[in-house]
Amino acid sequence: MSDSVSTAGSATAAPAPRIGFVSLGCPKALTDSELILTQLSAEGYATSETFEGADLVIVNTCGFIDDAVKESLDTIGEALAANGKVIVTGCLGARTASDGENLVQQVHPKVLAVTGPHATQEVMDAVHAHVPKPHDPFVDLVPATGVKLTPKHYAYLKISEGCNHRCSFCIIPGLRGDLVSRPVGDVLGEAQRLFESGVKELLVISQDTSAYGVDVKYRTGFWDGKPVRTRMLDLVARLGEIARPFGAWVRLHYVYPYPHVDEVIPLMAEGLVLPYLDVPFQHAHPDVLKRMKRPASGGRNLERIQAWRAACPQLVVRSTFIAGFPGETEEEFQTLLDFMQEAQIDRAGCFAYSPVEGAAANDLPGALPDAVREERRARFMAVAEAVSTARLAQRVGATMQVLVDSAPALGRKGGVGRTYADAPEIDGTVKILPPTKASKTMKVGEFVRVRIVGTSGHDLVGELV
Ligand code: SF4
Repeated sequence: MSDSVSTAGSATAAPAPRIGFVSLGCPKALTDSELILTQLSAEGYATSETFEGADLVIVNTCGFIDDAVKESLDTIGEALAANGKVIVTGCLGARTASDGENLVQQVHPKVLAVTGPHATQEVMDAVHAHVPKPHDPFVDLVPATGVKLTPKHYAYLKISEGCNHRCSFCIIPGLRGDLVSRPVGDVLGEAQRLFESGVKELLVISQDTSAYGVDVKYRTGFWDGKPVRTRMLDLVARLGEIARPFGAWVRLHYVYPYPHVDEVIPLMAEGLVLPYLDVPFQHAHPDVLKRMKRPASGGRNLERIQAWRAACPQLVVRSTFIAGFPGETEEEFQTLLDFMQEAQIDRAGCFAYSPVEGAAANDLPGALPDAVREERRARFMAVAEAVSTARLAQRVGATMQVLVDSAPALGRKGGVGRTYADAPEIDGTVKILPPTKASKTMKVGEFVRVRIVGTSGHDLVGELV
């Protein structure tokens, strides 16, 4: 091979990282190679025609007949000897040895990552993990964490866009389309950068966090050289592991109560992610949920919440509800009030139903007068507030970890923070009293220990310990 390099990226100040590429096998494998090379080029990577001149080598393999297997394994061995950083893709990557182990990893345990065929995104995730994307002058004017509108110590992490459901009151799928999950390697990379930049609380958001990865059939991506499935449980576990050395919190929003959410609760019980679930139930009566076309509407949500609390007693549940949906009878509404009481939802919001232009629910029969919708919302909130206040009162006397959101004069005049039970903007706060000793200070973005001494509406009041 000559040492010529074909540059495929835009002109940037720093030289583009170079990727060596060997394509073996049939025309289908060639098409895969073209897709990967096109993506590399689009992201500004250069290609290297020698193993030695590359920052990393990708070998697209064939596993069809014995000769092809040998050729592929030999090529991987050559690339490892000459370069050391090798990613393997293609048909041989999907083959297992007689003991069930991955064949490539068994013969060449030093390869960085192995994928099967048709895995452009997984290959790109592995490339990103080992040779970061080159600078893009249009994007790199902003910091590696992107432009953030939140304070420095917490950040939202969007894991997907769009939604596969068609709730009758909602027009989001029409506006944003079906679910598109972000590659898991990209999401985890963003989380790592946010923690490195000082974020202490990461808020995972989407339209439907539980559905993460459904659109890509839970495909395997890569993070830190290891395979990770594009799936809620795997994502949450890895986020918790990434957050741990930073002592940071991970909070989950918009989690629908599908059965597989049960698997996430043990991660909360062991402290990997916050024992806090934002579950938009919207209603409790099965007929109303049916008219709303809600996902997971058939589930026995009350039993599910009780089982979650049995597995993780410190769990806090937040939810939103709609009162006065078209056709809602007094009996159906009473079911909602009973659910609120029995489920002991810690934090609940409620909207009086209001038609949104373009929503299917507008055509449902039985629209209720505005006054009835409003009156039911008020009755719901009275129950919700009684539940919330009683649950809040149980915290008095406890010492809790609090993340400081505001602390003028280093907190000498007191400050405001939140416990794990409160998400920013939507839940309550902890009002931290001015410390009695001048030596006690606190800063925004710092975790402090606070003894809870009282409540004030939706908030707690506490003192530094
Ligand atoms: S309300 Fe329903 S349709 Fe709308 S985004 Fe949420 S799950 Fe999707």
